[in-house]
Amino acid sequence: MSAMKTNDLSGQKIIITGGGIGGASGALALALRGADVTLYERHNEFKEVGAGLQIGPHGVKMLDKWGLKEKAIEGGYLPDRMQFRDGITAEPILNMEFDEKFVEHYGAEYLVIHRSDLLNMLVEAAREAGANLVNGVKVTGADDHGDGVSVHLEDANTGEKLDDDEADVLVAFDGIHSVFRPLCADDEPVPSAYVAYRGTSPLAEDEDMKDLKDVRGYIGPRCHFIQYPLRGGELLNQVAVFQSPRYLEALTNGTEVPDDWGNNEEFKQAFDHTNEAVKGRLGNMWLDTWWQMADREPLEDWIASDRIIVMGDAAHPPLQYIASGAIMAMEDGECLAQYASDAVKAGDLNWTTVLREVADERAPRCGRIQTTSRFWGELWHVDGLSRLIRNELFREAERTGWFKYADWLWDYDATRREYLQDPSKGNLPKELDEWEYNLHKIARQRDEGKSAEELTI
Ligand SMILES: Cc1cc2nc3c(=O)[nH]c(=O)nc-3n(C[C@H](O)[C@H](O)[C@H](O)COP(=O)(O)OP(=O)(O)OC[C@H]3O[C@@H](n4cnc5c(N)ncnc54)[C@H](O)[C@@H]3O)c2cc1C
Repeated sequence: MSAMKTNDLSGQKIIITGGGIGGASGALALALRGADVTLYERHNEFKEVGAGLQIGPHGVKMLDKWGLKEKAIEGGYLPDRMQFRDGITAEPILNMEFDEKFVEHYGAEYLVIHRSDLLNMLVEAAREAGANLVNGVKVTGADDHGDGVSVHLEDANTGEKLDDDEADVLVAFDGIHSVFRPLCADDEPVPSAYVAYRGTSPLAEDEDMKDLKDVRGYIGPRCHFIQYPLRGGELLNQVAVFQSPRYLEALTNGTEVPDDWGNNEEFKQAFDHTNEAVKGRLGNMWLDTWWQMADREPLEDWIASDRIIVMGDAAHPPLQYIASGAIMAMEDGECLAQYASDAVKAGDLNWTTVLREVADERAPRCGRIQTTSRFWGELWHVDGLSRLIRNELFREAERTGWFKYADWLWDYDATRREYLQDPSKGNLPKELDEWEYNLHKIARQRDEGKSAEELTI
């Protein structure tokens, strides 16, 4: 089913910088409202890592709005459940069923899909909706001149300066190292000390795994391992994540962090303490690349100027533990298109007001996802007594019903404007007031003058 196209934003010129999942989603959502969209991507092709992506119901609802849900389900995979297992014993500790009750409660399915398949789908649909998507062009900056924006461009292959392009609004979906984020905050990415290895392999001929129908996660201590099928069960996607001892050592000793933290030497030992169900699978991971995981502190204000806004990882790069980085970027694009259309319908499209409204709705929502991701990741990675308590809490959640923990994340609809009405919804729940992110704890104790031996985390 294709999405309905409207002319609400006809005559409005929008430039998007960055053609990842965020930029492509934004281009699609705005083009579907009739905006004149040009997207600049510095790479010569639209590309994503060849691995999987989990799209919870909050993301599937976006695909549904854009007429892509059936196609995405056809090319992806609908897992039966998410199952958490203890990393040492391999015992299941929490099953989250993605059954009819789930779909009814959240209004959509839980999908897993190959990243390139999703990006290609979004790019194709954005082009069909009329967006002009341009590769090989880098956006180097922009001037807001009150009634519009002049966007500075460069040929990404030759470095030659190109003529400026003009727009009513510039949307920066240019990733964690965004050119425009420094206009909003003076900050840097925060490395997490955790590193991810990925790998895909044929599933049908994999004797041990061919019956896998779930998103399965073995958690802790100090590592986790995720598995799920892709492309209708054709491929197995695996992600192995662990804490780098060399990164942590440098951090606690105050010495220089080695560039290759999380390298193959560390990977080879990082899962020695885990169950054979994990250790036995590590041979399928790619060894030539690994991803040093980093996020940023939540950004309070996404407005770079009256007509420039940052979105996607440029605004809210998260740790990946609640699988919502790409989905937040999809929600951002749809929220902008929706609020601008609403303003047109109300007879009053003022971009400065629209960007303010979008930022005030989205910033607390995404900040909550970023801070919860840190907390959730640390809960996965605990050791000793904490691990046993965590396991019992997970079992309890299955016994008593877990929807109450996930509703804030999966039952979201920007049209309700709930964070605009109550920005405190962006805070972690009261019970977590005492909780402090481990890396913050280390930094604080170092600032207090404690030596490496005295640090407690
Ligand atoms: C291991 C791992 C697992 C993850 N799992 C999930 C998951 O299951 N579900 C989920 O929702 N999210 C997940 N994420 C997060 C998700 O991948 C990201 O949050 C998301 O892809 C960000 O999309 P984006 O378009 O905002 O940024 P990016 O994908 O970084 O795209 C930015 C684009 O901008 C371009 N660009 C940069 N600078 C310029 C410039 N100056 N001019 C022109 N173009 C420029 C870049 O080339 C790039 O194409 C995961 C992340 C990791 C690392």
